Amino acid sequence: MNPRPPVRMCARCQRTTDAPVLVHEVHAATGPGFNVYACGECAASYPPAGDVLELLDLATAPARRSPSRLTLRFYKVNSDGDVIEDRGEVVIVADDDLDAHRLQSGG
Ligand SMILES: [Zn+2]
Repeated sequence: MNPRPPVRMCARCQRTTDAPVLVHEVHAATGPGFNVYACGECAASYPPAGDVLELLDLATAPARRSPSRLTLRFYKVNSDGDVIEDRGEVVIVADDDLDAHRLQSGG
């Protein structure tokens, strides 16, 4: 048995290394995805996956986005298709805080 050491190309310095360190897993929507390796030297300073994208997103996002509004209309219909109960509109406003969704009754 003479297992060959796995040789991968470092995604950072582009050199092949026989001691690859998995630094990133890419999950493709249409395939099995692939792994990104770096050499030990680069892996130590490789930015953690995901966090970079989030930081970039935060850095490039405008400080104040215009709120997103979504208006839904609720009503009931009977089997004949006639509206039997109109519950008015509900306006959903997405604030800068992505977790805060304020519901406003517009009826
Ligand atoms: Zn490297």
